[in-house]
Amino acid sequence: MFDYHVHTDFSVDCAIPMRTQCEAAVAAGVTEIAFTDHVDHEPADLGFGYYRPEAYLAAIEEARREYAGRLTVLAGVEVDFNEGIAPQVERFVAEWGARYDFVIGSVHYAVGGEIIFPDYFGGRSLDDVFLPYLAQVELAVSTGWFDTIGHLDLPKRYAPKSHRSYDPLAYRERLLPIFRAMIERGVAFEINTSGLRQTPRASMPGPAIVRWYADEGGRSITTGTDSHAPQTIGAGLATTLDMLELCGIDTVASFRNRRPTPVPIASLRPSRAA
Ligand SMILES: [Zn+2]
Ligand SMILES: [Zn+2]
Repeated sequence: MFDYHVHTDFSVDCAIPMRTQCEAAVAAGVTEIAFTDHVDHEPADLGFGYYRPEAYLAAIEEARREYAGRLTVLAGVEVDFNEGIAPQVERFVAEWGARYDFVIGSVHYAVGGEIIFPDYFGGRSLDDVFLPYLAQVELAVSTGWFDTIGHLDLPKRYAPKSHRSYDPLAYRERLLPIFRAMIERGVAFEINTSGLRQTPRASMPGPAIVRWYADEGGRSITTGTDSHAPQTIGAGLATTLDMLELCGIDTVASFRNRRPTPVPIASLRPSRAA
């Protein structure tokens, strides 16, 4: 199984060393792991100025040596994106992108610097949150800077009780052109399993959205747990592979040096012998 969204203590919101995460991955039956620490250019973010690419890349080299033959360790990064910080993001990707295997583009902030957390929904409708959010996702796809899009319907995770009526069907028409742009540009999106263990009790995105993407001809999907703790590495990935197959997707993307290779899901099933 591929866990392509894992944080370490190179992220401001995670205290777990890379080695601990590697041990957990091996124990969970994960075969490829991408450490995707946060790169934050929003001045309001706690992580602003926190990320140290040189130190991170050195840690990756060390982990590769230590886990050779047991775990494939990929240099990944989760780059926060919105149009307000696009020039800084562009600079980061231009300077460092070639040193990574895999770059996630994630929208966490609305333009103007307000983070999309429960408070942000106050006085806004779901449309008021989702439509501008999806516009930023669309822009992220169009830049060509990212290999995959993180947690595609993220606002559902932070929607407070007053806003739990989220139904992806309401955004189907808005998602279709985004899918077409993804397919055209070769940008994947991830199934982020953290939603399964948090409030929405569904992956981000869930099966309906995956089905529409498959119907548009899309096949390029990455899988990740967004783990900030060792206990959740690998969590929900087996369920996700089942879900993908039910939706008509029979491969997941593996990355090396920013290049995807589709890997048959059938070859990723953990052995039932244990
Ligand atoms: Zn994220
Ligand atoms: Zn993350």
